[in-house]
Amino acid sequence: MQSLGNESELAVKKDQQYLWHNITPYSEKNPPMIAAAASGSWVTDIGGNKFLDGMSGLWCVNVGYGRKELAEAAYHQLLSLPYFPLTQSHMPAIALAEKLNAWLEGDYVIFFSNSGSEANEAAFKIARQYQQQIGQHYRHKFIARYRGYHGSSLGALSATGQAQRKYKYEPLSGGFLHVAPPDSYRRPAGMSVEEFNLQSAQAIEDTMIWEGVETVAAVIMEPVITGGGVIVPHQVYLDRVQEICRKHGVLLIIDEVICGFGRSGRKFGHQNYGVKPDIITMAKGLTSAYLPLSATAVRKDIYDAFKDNSDEYGYFRHVNTFGGNPAACALALRNLEILEQENLVERAGILGKRLTAEWAGLLDHKLVGDIRSFGLIIGIELVADKATKQPAELAVVKGIIAECKAKGLIIGKNGDTVAGFNNVLTIAPPLSSTDEDIQFIAGTLKAVLNGSW
Ligand code: PLP
Repeated sequence: MQSLGNESELAVKKDQQYLWHNITPYSEKNPPMIAAAASGSWVTDIGGNKFLDGMSGLWCVNVGYGRKELAEAAYHQLLSLPYFPLTQSHMPAIALAEKLNAWLEGDYVIFFSNSGSEANEAAFKIARQYQQQIGQHYRHKFIARYRGYHGSSLGALSATGQAQRKYKYEPLSGGFLHVAPPDSYRRPAGMSVEEFNLQSAQAIEDTMIWEGVETVAAVIMEPVITGGGVIVPHQVYLDRVQEICRKHGVLLIIDEVICGFGRSGRKFGHQNYGVKPDIITMAKGLTSAYLPLSATAVRKDIYDAFKDNSDEYGYFRHVNTFGGNPAACALALRNLEILEQENLVERAGILGKRLTAEWAGLLDHKLVGDIRSFGLIIGIELVADKATKQPAELAVVKGIIAECKAKGLIIGKNGDTVAGFNNVLTIAPPLSSTDEDIQFIAGTLKAVLNGSW
């Protein structure tokens, strides 16, 4: 690894003086990596060191770095129409909404915002107001899962089920309830995965009944819990959740912020399960994170309930100044074209399978309790004891990540420190990763785990 030159040292000093980082403790000894450039799956820091970004930033650079055509799409749009509010309309937003509807294979209307958190906030407000519009005045509660993450703003954080992210900021918004996720790896001994998943789904219906079904507006979940440790449900779980929601008049909101845009091996994560959500939220891969943009897709008949002009305030009274910025929409459209033209959705599935096949032998490693995958989202659960499944020490998890980084590979770690789980290594490289990139990821992690650990 190259040592930092004078210029780099100055940048680190200024960073430490002026910049407040996302969810990372300040550390004089461990300064942040300062990225300078990136291409494909590789990022170069200001010292000239190259790293394979095995997390696509924050699970978001789906088409990889350095796509000139995305910059050009934004540039041309900025020259012709840089901004116009979506209280009215513009062509890039119309074209993107039409395209998203085709990708969703349904009949959806699109509300644009800038981030995943905002897309979820819009979904919560739409769900509550919709229930009022149809005369269900008591339906205001949301049911989410522990270990799920839905964003950093107070409503989205309320839906989040990770204590570590919440407990310093409580009390949060009222009306958000949580149930345990279908963590099949930790199911009771003797119970089948199917049985356990059905039981986990039943917890949602039980909660509705205990709360009074007429008070519940919606259920929110990711198709697969990603940031909470890659928890992949069995088909029966989502089938049953959908059935429960329909039976009780509760909307099903699916958060596709990470799973969307090919990451799961299908265009959207829920399409792997064949469920039809009422509301779908998305961000990250929508623009491959080149510009901020998010969307809340709402079933057409829900939208129709907002058209009744007999109530003066019956329309959706929510505004987002920057949401659906024309340049971000033009860029997103080009991004979707790249995903289609290069078959990156299918490629994500192929690469995910290749990585899990490469790592199958790691299940014999004393630290590896479970390997789970969903397209090109892979979680490797590290344990201190395979019999008890006691999570590996945080220092071990951090040590492995640091050793990968020293060998030029960035991977992630997810879970919930406060709840005693922060033991899942996560790997989610760009969908455009080359065969050589995948070999590098597979080989580096194997070498690290089979080395000193
Ligand atoms: N939903 C999920 C599943 C996420 O993973 C995230 C962010 O990581 C969000 C919502 C919030 O997105 P943002 O950080 O863009 O607000």
